[in-house]
Amino acid sequence: MPQPKYLMNIDRIERIPESEREQLKRITEKFVFRVNDYYLDLIDWNDPHDPIRKLVIPNAEELGEYGRWDASDEDTNYVVPGCQHKYGTTALLIVSEVCGAYCRYCFRKRLFRNDVKEAVSDIEPGLRYIAQRKEINNVLLTGGDSLILGTPRIRMILERLREIDHVKIIRMGSKIPVFNPMRIYEDEELLDAIRTYSSPEKRIYVMAHINHPREITKEAVKGFEALHNAGAIVVNQTPVLRGINDDPAVLGELLDKLSWAGVTPYYFFVNRPVAGNKAFVLPLREVYEIVEKAKALTSGLGKRVRLSMSHTSGKIEILAIDGGKAYLKYHQSRDNRYGMFMTLDCPDDAAWFDDLPGSEKFWTKPEKKTNAVASVNAMPDMPTSKKLSTGRQAASQKE
Ligand code: SF4
Repeated sequence: MPQPKYLMNIDRIERIPESEREQLKRITEKFVFRVNDYYLDLIDWNDPHDPIRKLVIPNAEELGEYGRWDASDEDTNYVVPGCQHKYGTTALLIVSEVCGAYCRYCFRKRLFRNDVKEAVSDIEPGLRYIAQRKEINNVLLTGGDSLILGTPRIRMILERLREIDHVKIIRMGSKIPVFNPMRIYEDEELLDAIRTYSSPEKRIYVMAHINHPREITKEAVKGFEALHNAGAIVVNQTPVLRGINDDPAVLGELLDKLSWAGVTPYYFFVNRPVAGNKAFVLPLREVYEIVEKAKALTSGLGKRVRLSMSHTSGKIEILAIDGGKAYLKYHQSRDNRYGMFMTLDCPDDAAWFDDLPGSEKFWTKPEKKTNAVASVNAMPDMPTSKKLSTGRQAASQKE
């Protein structure tokens, strides 16, 4: 199959009526737009509520007042430019500010602004930091999308990380397995790099973001298989999103299709309260009930998924919501509170940990560890990024 063509100008999508395009263009001036023709072909254009369409085509609610650009205060996790260290054993290298398309719900959409510089081309400070800390045994390559980088750069990053003996796991955050699966299964050099640096003792994990079962096409399955054959392990995480996958039958089908393809269902997330994401918000109680009904439809393999909130203070697992109470547990904690169990009142409209009365008792807002990045929450809104027009990062992103 030919490599997909990328589009950044919504005017070029003729299947959207011209009058609508005019309106949507205003949104893309605030929140960047990008998609490719392979993914556009998954949309059912006869259905105005098509979930695949909602994933990548802007919606009017994006301009409504809601949330913050950096809702989990990731700016407080930076230790050196391009490297975040929030949990003891895990470090993040922010290696890309580009994705195969831009999901409208993305919690890192701040990265695509021109005035935000969190991804770095020089990863040496991050590598030095990781090399000096033996407790870091896994590193996540993220951004943006790590698999959008050119193959020689991916190979170089994997090679440098493998020089650090205590880094056992390398995770690659990516939606390329469904945005552009051909980029995976047609690139022998990429697969060779994965084969070289993923071994039985030190695996590479691909952390996929698959939101809807219709994204799992024949091509996507071929991409998973190529990754598996190269020795990578593929797992999946997705937020539960209003209008996209907030239906037990849809989420249940996603869990089934992932497990059939050998992809571990890893996390269901509560959508973070990020600017522009109002249309996708669901109350916690509703999210919990949808997830439980979806799990009832799938096998034990599908049920491995955990429902969590990626909060400033840590990953908070939702164990149950019942009788007006939320039963929660720290699954990861920046302040060594792993395992802490919490029972909090859960108002019907609560959509985030901070909306639960009394939640503030369990954490304190962290200080920034370094001034490696500016706090985007304090910045005024500005027009969207022109970063992509340079084409300097992506393996294949001609418009
Ligand atoms: S692929 Fe991931 S990082 Fe990129 S826009 Fe989508 S959610 Fe955000």
